[in-house]
Amino acid sequence: MNHLFAKYDIPAPRYTSYPTVPYWEEAPSTDLWIEHLKQTLSDSQSSWAMYMHVPYCESLCTFCGCNTIITKDHRREEPYAELILKEWQTYLSQVPALGQKALKHLHIGGGTPTFLSPENLVKLLKPILSQVKLADNFEGSIEVDPRRTTTEQLIVLKELGFDRVSLGVQDFNPEVQRLVNRIQPYEITEKITSEARRLGYRSVNFDLIYGLAKQTPETMLDTVQKTVQLRPDRIALYSFALVPWIKPAQRLFKDEDLPTGKAKRDLYELARRELIAAGYVEVGMDHFALPTDSLSQALLQKKLHRNFMGYTDQKTDLLLGLGVSSISETPYSFHQNEKVFATYQQRVEQQDIPTHRGHILSEEDRSRRVQILQFMTNGTVELDQEQKQAAEDFLKEMILDDLVQINGLQLQMTEKGKPFLRNACLFFDERLKRQKPQTQVFSKSL
Ligand code: SF4
Repeated sequence: MNHLFAKYDIPAPRYTSYPTVPYWEEAPSTDLWIEHLKQTLSDSQSSWAMYMHVPYCESLCTFCGCNTIITKDHRREEPYAELILKEWQTYLSQVPALGQKALKHLHIGGGTPTFLSPENLVKLLKPILSQVKLADNFEGSIEVDPRRTTTEQLIVLKELGFDRVSLGVQDFNPEVQRLVNRIQPYEITEKITSEARRLGYRSVNFDLIYGLAKQTPETMLDTVQKTVQLRPDRIALYSFALVPWIKPAQRLFKDEDLPTGKAKRDLYELARRELIAAGYVEVGMDHFALPTDSLSQALLQKKLHRNFMGYTDQKTDLLLGLGVSSISETPYSFHQNEKVFATYQQRVEQQDIPTHRGHILSEEDRSRRVQILQFMTNGTVELDQEQKQAAEDFLKEMILDDLVQINGLQLQMTEKGKPFLRNACLFFDERLKRQKPQTQVFSKSL
């Protein structure tokens, strides 16, 4: 496989959206965006999810690619909760269906959502939860930083109906933690995991990363073994995305400390072997779940879905993002909120929809988006007649290397080809094919 890792470790999008963000063109006008929300919700079969972004973190983890504001000033909590509530009210007044159509999933991410005190979590969430109708299978989930999470926060979240917590862990090795500026002793992760279980959370997820500075097979094995001891229901094992041109803090890493190419992929394969041996099921390209978890069930039933938040078993047509920099999606368009806090604040206070950028999907975008989603979740997708020949040409090398197969109109990833899923998806990316980026905008595929 060595030569394959060298051959295919090229810049490629992660395809959490199609078109990918650098290829977004024109944002929908406010009127059109509101129309898209209404149109999506008017379909009796449609469903929706909400994402809230809390950007604050007390310190910067140097690998981080999220939209964050680093501060220890907790006086910012309450005004921020009020801003999100105001943004929500603006939406609700223009799209009353948001209060009528059952909400399937609410996810709070960051940043650090547990930057907010228990009181401010209640202040933020209670009014919104009282104004929406919750689906019977409603799922509330939140990302928690074990270093900044208290039992009181977990208690109020549970009372508010949250039943999934996602713990940022990344790596248990002290030297790796030091290099990424995230000191998080095992005991802290253990404590929050057991508190979540004691309080009755249905699911605990760990986020791990492979490809960080100074990670070796030995450190990775230790991290995975410690993870298995704590037995989270789900594990997201993300590839470290090295994008120093977007995240300057990543320039602090020395090239020689970073595992790349085959060495990096070996870390994933080692973790994968250990997790499968411990009873986990591999889901998609970077998730694992216990067989009892709904993500594994969704994989079996071919109901896996993927959006900006990653793999999920909750298929929804509308994702409404609230908070600075949040991304929303409908079947017709993408929409991102202002990324600059002061601008977001000003526009929300004026009861404006704080659009920063977006994209109206063309017919071609919509069909490619569906195909990429199917391929990313099931590893197989049906091509149309015209695509078949084009796929045989574009994916010629991958077919010869036995990474993908085309049987009739069915394009299929082979077992050997799994690490190269992002590479194969390039075939569907008409926008990238038409216009190659002039500089590197995507992280490497492996
Ligand atoms: S990894 Fe999490 S805690 Fe660290 S800077 Fe990023 S968002 Fe904040």
